[in-house]
Amino acid sequence: MKILVINCGSSSLKFQLIDSVTEEALGKGLCERIGIDGSVINFTPAGKDKIVKEIPMPDHNKAIELVIEALTDPATGVVKALSEIDAVGHRIVHGGESFTKSVRIDDEVIRAIEEVSDLAPLHNPANLIGVRACQKAMPGVPMVAVFDTAFHQTMPEEAYLYGLPYSFYEKYKVRRYGFHGTSHAYVSKRAAEIIGKPYESLKTIVCHLGNGASISAVKNGKCIDTSMGLTPLEGLIMGTRSGDIDPAVIEYLNGRDGRDLKDIMNALNKQSGVFGLSGNLSSDFRDLEAGYNKGDAGATRAIMGFAYRVTKYIGSYAAAMDGVDCICFTAGVGENSPLVRSLVLKRLGFLGIRLDEAANDVHGKERTISTPDSAVRVMVVPTNEELAIARDTAALCA
Ligand code: AMP
Repeated sequence: MKILVINCGSSSLKFQLIDSVTEEALGKGLCERIGIDGSVINFTPAGKDKIVKEIPMPDHNKAIELVIEALTDPATGVVKALSEIDAVGHRIVHGGESFTKSVRIDDEVIRAIEEVSDLAPLHNPANLIGVRACQKAMPGVPMVAVFDTAFHQTMPEEAYLYGLPYSFYEKYKVRRYGFHGTSHAYVSKRAAEIIGKPYESLKTIVCHLGNGASISAVKNGKCIDTSMGLTPLEGLIMGTRSGDIDPAVIEYLNGRDGRDLKDIMNALNKQSGVFGLSGNLSSDFRDLEAGYNKGDAGATRAIMGFAYRVTKYIGSYAAAMDGVDCICFTAGVGENSPLVRSLVLKRLGFLGIRLDEAANDVHGKERTISTPDSAVRVMVVPTNEELAIARDTAALCA
């Protein structure tokens, strides 16, 4: 089957066409600045050069029209006709407690996604705009919703409840949900395949370290804890997000230098993390590593703080699972930064972890980076959220 995978934001739309049999991406691209002046679509057919076109996209319907045009273009497209696309898989950020796995989209599913939109007001409405635009452009083509939160729905109550009045959970559904679930599921399953043991027999910690970053503890094939919470702001120090802080910081800052709640939340989401810690040097680890290697104090502070937080979470998840068989690094930083991996792992000698420095120095490829005598297998497993979405979509539409 040919599956179109859509990841729709408020002003952007990422797409990829995947052959579910060969699991190869036939083409991929991105629409940017939808509804804003200067809209651009780029499309890269597999094995060919990227095509970039500046075309007005007043709304997502126009963006989808252009995506279809790009995919079916007689010269540079990857299918002859729209009818070759068998199904569409949509990334949906928040499924609340309603969705524990991927589902075929119908009116009821759309209503249920709308119902939990309060929990992700920036993301879910944008995701649904993408669903509706595809339904309009491809009537009759089956569509599937794949949720960032679904994999984490197996967490036990002790992990997902905050130490708050229980009524806050009952009335408002305030609890840990977790995100990046598609990636955590894909990577933990792939790790079991590489190790050659049943998924249901392993204790795995997945470190998804990208611009957004989260860690999960996967025990016997089920997520039992994860670092992001009600929103993707909790947990690790991220590119520009603070991760864990004392919630009283918000009250303490309120009114200082004229800041209100909106300003503070904006600072926690967009001006914090390694960007803020580095003294606004950069949120990109390539820049920070360059600074670290030159002895820059801000870059060093940011990288050390980031790595320390990752180490702390790994330690706590090893305790939560009563041991750990395998630790996986994935996403932009996890796959490409030997420095961050080594700073994290050096502190975990007490778990019997031994790093193979030479294997750690290789970039971006699936591999084991611990020595054969390490008590815990440590791996780099590149994530592929689009493929995971395509697999779920194919399974539900076959
Ligand atoms: P992601 O959100 O998974 O796309 O990850 C994006 C982040 O990965 C970037 O902001 C960089 O900080 C980081 N990254 C990408 N390539 C490298 C690299 N070669 N070395 C270090 N960090 C990298």
